[in-house]
Amino acid sequence: MNRVSIIRVNEYSGIYQAIESSINLVGSFDLKGKRVLLKPNCLMPSKNAITSPEIVGNIAKWVKNKGGTPIIGDSPMSGGKTALEIYKKVKYKGKSGFDIITEIENEVEWTSFLENPILISKEIMKFQRLEKTAISSNFVNADFIINIPKWKTHFLTKFTGGVKNYWGVQIGKVKSRSHSYGNSPDKFSVVLTDLYSYIKKINKDNLIIMDAINIMHGTGGPSFGVMKELGLIITATNSVSLDSVAVSIGGINPFNVPTLKYCHQRGLGIADLNQIEILGNSINDVKCKLNFPTITIGDTLGLLQPLYSRATRKIPRVKRYKCIKCGTCIDLCPTGSISLNKITQYPEFRRSTCISCLCCVEGCPNHAIKAHSAGIYGIIGLV
Ligand code: SF4
Ligand code: SF4
Repeated sequence: MNRVSIIRVNEYSGIYQAIESSINLVGSFDLKGKRVLLKPNCLMPSKNAITSPEIVGNIAKWVKNKGGTPIIGDSPMSGGKTALEIYKKVKYKGKSGFDIITEIENEVEWTSFLENPILISKEIMKFQRLEKTAISSNFVNADFIINIPKWKTHFLTKFTGGVKNYWGVQIGKVKSRSHSYGNSPDKFSVVLTDLYSYIKKINKDNLIIMDAINIMHGTGGPSFGVMKELGLIITATNSVSLDSVAVSIGGINPFNVPTLKYCHQRGLGIADLNQIEILGNSINDVKCKLNFPTITIGDTLGLLQPLYSRATRKIPRVKRYKCIKCGTCIDLCPTGSISLNKITQYPEFRRSTCISCLCCVEGCPNHAIKAHSAGIYGIIGLV
């Protein structure tokens, strides 16, 4: 079923009503007696970078009203080990003043994605690039999954929505290691497609409700970027179709987002808008021009491609005036390429082992690391 609903929140009397209407448009769901895992994006304690707590809280209420048990979990990149820790740090109430901690902390279960990993590997799953990873059993063993991504651009993959939000079901630092299997935007998109193929295989891409109320676009996503109020909730039962509609609202063709193209080609979902039934508002009703990061055009350059790749390879640099010397980036680096300078205590990068995964950029709690193109230094092999 390739239905996607687009709902304008301000056309309803509240967020709960908007969410319920968006869900009813894509299907009916029997949650009675089921343990329902809600998977928001809790990347880091920054209100702009996470799924709004008022969306998560109201979905939890909807699950309870349907007779299910809501459980909220994520594996953040930095600033906390659980979704609860992130929401407690952010203290963000959303536009309606909904305080997730006061209103539902004790009404739902909060889970960690750190224990009892389920190991999966390339051989067993027939992945193309992802060698091995570890998925939280708390995710795998839930009866029903509600994936709750936030609409954000991503400097590597152009867009992070429903498909990319499953990155956070890998436990703790395993996420950083998985980055190392895709050391370019294109290869990383293949890794993401591999992971999503596992989610589909175990039948966990059940219901996806995207927070597109205050979205983040521009080149700094997924950690920081330009905020814009779209005021939308987008809902579907397949992440590929949902993301395809979401990027089309922002003005780009879904097939220009490598992950969506690969998922479509591998039969994991539909990215072709002609094959998606769009309910509620149309894309044209809500369309606006949003800025997406550009991705390498190296594939079209033939023999010049290696030079182009070396010049456009992203390398991290520290903005010292922002760095608080916390060392988080050292923990996040999958290749051990970061150390603190013994005298200044600022991070230093070992370029020879850096794979340009940009986990350090994504996870720095103070946005103190920026990705630069290697330029001429990359071409002559100095970085
Ligand atoms: S660059 Fe960021 S993560 Fe690394 S030490 Fe500085 S503030 Fe911490
Ligand atoms: S230094 Fe940063 S970009 Fe390079 S491998 Fe480590 S985390 Fe990835």
